[in-house]
Amino acid sequence: MRIGILGGTFDPIHIGHLIAASEVHRALNLDRVLFIPAGQPWQKSEQLVSPASDRLAMVSLAIADDDRFDVSDMEIARPGDTYAIDTVHSLQKVSPDDEFFWIVGDDVLARIPTWHRWEEFVDSVTVVAVNRVGAPHVSVNFDYQRVEMPDVAVSATLLRQRLASADECLYLVPRDVAKYAITNGLYSL
Ligand code: ATP
Repeated sequence: MRIGILGGTFDPIHIGHLIAASEVHRALNLDRVLFIPAGQPWQKSEQLVSPASDRLAMVSLAIADDDRFDVSDMEIARPGDTYAIDTVHSLQKVSPDDEFFWIVGDDVLARIPTWHRWEEFVDSVTVVAVNRVGAPHVSVNFDYQRVEMPDVAVSATLLRQRLASADECLYLVPRDVAKYAITNGLYSL
């Protein structure tokens, strides 16, 4: 099987993530896309991140009606800092015959060379980059595939600000996700 992986903080998940997953699924003829919320995003440790259980719940709500998509708690269940290379090894151990496509926006593509054991990482998966509004196309010294998606100028940072004041987020975040965030006071000031 050809499996896409979309890792992220998903605090909260939004249409940028869902459109990226859907467009890469289509363009690369993937079988499934697996959303993997990060447990302890070490590159965001300065930032306050919502509890993993809430981020996982929001991803589950967002993809519930789409049978091309799955969610995994593997990074959340793993103690310590989250490293993509450990995730790849776990997936390859369980499904040695599958081919993995690791999807990132251009902002993250540029940061891959800062990741733990990144050279091993880019040798182990096919990296797939999608355009991200505000992130320039950088040149990187490893191979990757590019998929163009409609520009979606939405970030979780923007949505946390809106949800903090229960501001309207309809169509930017799935309805059930917005409801979950507001009901659980995730971003309340
Ligand atoms: P934050 O604003 O908190 O930094 P974020 O919106 O960037 O969050 P993440 O969960 O950190 O969301 O992103 C997960 C992955 O999805 C990353 O590879 C990121 O580049 C990609 N991504 C997020 N938003 C978009 C978007 N609007 N368009 C394309 N890719 C996106």
